[in-house]
Amino acid sequence: MSCVFCKIASKEMKSTVVHETDGLIVIKDINPQAPTHLLVLPKKHYSTILECDDRDLLAEMLLAAKEVAKKAGVDEKGFRLVINTNDEGGQTVFHLHMHLMAGRSLAGRMG
Ligand code: 5GP
Ligand code: ZN
Repeated sequence: MSCVFCKIASKEMKSTVVHETDGLIVIKDINPQAPTHLLVLPKKHYSTILECDDRDLLAEMLLAAKEVAKKAGVDEKGFRLVINTNDEGGQTVFHLHMHLMAGRSLAGRMG
């Protein structure tokens, strides 16, 4: 198993976990692009969102993102959720994950 996010999800590799359920964990991004930069990762490996048809899991990822946004206190000011997919989408880690970014104005910038 060489996938870095599988190792993080199984706790074989260290990360800062801010939220966890049976199906996913939410960690702090190691190279934050905003004051709050979290990653929502399913524990099960899917290379990209294209491989994942699990509606419950996809819904759980969105619900977890809402919950951690509230917990982090960024819900009112606002936040951005992003799933980079494949090369031109900017994906660098090929284990499905969703970014939650907040804490600065992201308005008008998509990249
Ligand atoms: P992508 O470009 O694939 O959408 O995002 C991958 C993200 O994972 C990047 O923001 C990167 O900083 C983060 N990342 C890569 N390796 C690690 C790691 O070992 N630990 C943590 N916490 N984040 C990582
Ligand atoms: Zn993986």
